[in-house]
Amino acid sequence: MVLLGSTGSIGTNTLAIAERYRIRVEALVAGRNIDLLKEQILRFQPCFVCVADEATAKTLDHPRVFWGEEGILEVIRQSTSAIVVNALVGFLGLRPTVEAIREGKTVALANKESLVAAGAFIDPKHLRPIDSEHFGLWYLLNGRKPARMTITASGGAFRDWPVEKIADATAKEALNHPNWSMGAKITVDSATMANKLFELLEARWMFGCEQIDALIEPRSVVHALIEFADGATVAQMAHPDMKLPIAYALMGHVEEPILPPVNLLEVGALHFRAIDPARYPLWRLKEELTAHPKRGVIVNAANEVAVAKFLRGEITFGALSTLVLDAYERFSDTEPATLEEVFTIDQAVRSWCEGAR
Ligand code: NDP
Repeated sequence: MVLLGSTGSIGTNTLAIAERYRIRVEALVAGRNIDLLKEQILRFQPCFVCVADEATAKTLDHPRVFWGEEGILEVIRQSTSAIVVNALVGFLGLRPTVEAIREGKTVALANKESLVAAGAFIDPKHLRPIDSEHFGLWYLLNGRKPARMTITASGGAFRDWPVEKIADATAKEALNHPNWSMGAKITVDSATMANKLFELLEARWMFGCEQIDALIEPRSVVHALIEFADGATVAQMAHPDMKLPIAYALMGHVEEPILPPVNLLEVGALHFRAIDPARYPLWRLKEELTAHPKRGVIVNAANEVAVAKFLRGEITFGALSTLVLDAYERFSDTEPATLEEVFTIDQAVRSWCEGAR
């Protein structure tokens, strides 16, 4: 396989599965975590390596080192692997997803931003879901037609905080996720609920189902539910650990234990809560995005700028959501008609958000 984002949370879990099942790693792509990348190169002996920039590339002793976005695309073109695992974070992942599909490869997709921004222009038959909720939906569907899909949210770092305190929360507090250990951006996205908005869009494009909603299940044991026309509802449960979806995305079929089974007597009780827009202001965009899923590109671009500003300490947690909502209002008459327009709109929204207070 080709692994994009090897040094991240999904990337390192993917390498653990590759090692266990002796899956050959043809290429490792990372950003700037050179120490970890060097260890991975020694261990997995990839034919190709790619990093974020030329200066970082120069620090590596490997015969085929590439850099930058063009370097990632070149690695995909030169590789012979049938599977590309896209575990890059953010909009940077979109062109690699498109390029891998163009090259006839299957994309094991963690990079949800690809579908959020450009799902209308990506054929899902080339994708395998790594996101746990979408893996859960895929697992339950089993070729049947759903009447309605539901995905769950943990509620993020502030699900039990007094609502009036949340707007002033710090980055350190937002990064303290109750159930999952993940990269910084998705952890903040969980706290604002942007992550679940994105996952609704991801499910919409991946499964072509418009009847989809989300609710909070604070233990993250139930990941997805499907109602069928006959009135039956089925649920997928597993411990919160990405190795299970990754194993399926890499191998298609798994018979051995990847995780210990869920012990319902230990779980005791399951509770479900509605997602309250007073606690999660971005949830106000749900109806809009459900009706206009191509506008995901606006929310994604604004959110990337706003999260980066928040993590740099330039804006408060409350201002993060306000910036995304303002950007959506400013650009809400815009929708991409082509894939190239996705890139134009993304740039326009980013410039506006960078300039905003
Ligand atoms: P991380 O931040 O942990 O990892 C991101 C990876 O992308 C790192 O390997 C990083 O490299 C690399 N990267 C960043 N910038 C560049 C660049 N300019 N060029 C090349 N590589 C770059 O993120 P996660 O693993 O948490 O998430 C990855 C994706 O998976 C996201 O889209 C997320 O939403 C999705 N996802 C994650 C889940 C999780 O459990 N973590 C669950 C479901 C979905 P480096 O660190 O070396 O700079």
